[in-house]
Amino acid sequence: MTSNEKTVALLTENVNGPDDQWYPVPAQCKAGATEMRRLVWSLESGLTEDGDWEATAQYLKENGFTDVIARMARGGVAFYNSRLVPVSPKVATEGDLLRKAVTACRRHGIRFHAWKVFFRMNMAPQEYVDKLKAEERYMYGRFNTPFCSVWQTPTGVSVEGEQNDYWMCPADLRNQEEEISVMREMATLGVDGVHFDYIRYNAWYGCYCPRCRARYEARAGKPAAEWPAEVDPMVAINPLWLQMRCETITGIVRKTIAAIREVNPACEISAAVFPGVDEHIYHAQPWRSWCREGLLDFVCPMTYGQNPDVLRGQVINIARTAMASPRTRIYPAVGLADGKATPEKIRELAAIIRWAGFPGVSHYVLDLKTGPNLAKAYRRA
Ligand SMILES: [Zn+2]
Repeated sequence: MTSNEKTVALLTENVNGPDDQWYPVPAQCKAGATEMRRLVWSLESGLTEDGDWEATAQYLKENGFTDVIARMARGGVAFYNSRLVPVSPKVATEGDLLRKAVTACRRHGIRFHAWKVFFRMNMAPQEYVDKLKAEERYMYGRFNTPFCSVWQTPTGVSVEGEQNDYWMCPADLRNQEEEISVMREMATLGVDGVHFDYIRYNAWYGCYCPRCRARYEARAGKPAAEWPAEVDPMVAINPLWLQMRCETITGIVRKTIAAIREVNPACEISAAVFPGVDEHIYHAQPWRSWCREGLLDFVCPMTYGQNPDVLRGQVINIARTAMASPRTRIYPAVGLADGKATPEKIRELAAIIRWAGFPGVSHYVLDLKTGPNLAKAYRRA
């Protein structure tokens, strides 16, 4: 047995073991990682208002960051010269932000991951949203209306949504093809990695569009007695429906990976995921199964809270998943709280993630407000 095989055997043993034992996460490190990664998400313009990626990359190098995950596309909009989706007006004033960032990060030895928000169209141009509405490609909520024109909380409370905050129906093949092709396009542009965000349903409602109803009825083998009550989790848990939602999201992940591997086999593929234990139900984001299978290169659980006790509980829980995840690295996140996290707080939270033995820490999110405290937390003496 090679040492890697031994580690995998040990991990498998642990996964099938009793539930009341503590397994140290450093096995993730033993399985291949040799050093701590320090990652940070960044919005498309980086640390400045005008998209000065040279300054941002220099900042990252000076403060010991190894990787940046920068937002380069959302539903129906790209922050670079895309041939597939509308290009943000920012590109006219700040330049092609993806190409600028790739060049600067390469110069400073920072690994660059292009971050894509799936499905959510609230930054897309009006004409684009109108086109998708006309084609009925948006997600339906509980009231036979576009999901986000009226939001629904887990307790069923309705909240008026912001203008144009439509989501694409994840099960619609036209939407899948478009979102996957944007990830593939980014993977051809010199990046080290691409990053899934919003790779999930909005909550445990939806999508209740006519096509999703037809898919459900075909799978159930009979018409729904009442729609969407038959699948509505506020009425009763419907295991088939919840499973179908997870299959939809996991299917998109698989198709995207295959598309990226065709054009860039070395590209790292990662995802931002919710840290809860019920995400396979609530957001249809079964990322713990993805970790067991080793689908992705790494995931960043969005553990953004500022309370160290809460973070400790979250990372202990994630540690158990890590033990079953010999290939997919897990880098829990430190939240920067819009600039309100002090340098001491940032170090305290990062220390909890290191304490649990994860092979890296991610940080959310670098911008003008958070940059100064983040630098003070890590600046080398
Ligand atoms: Zn649908």
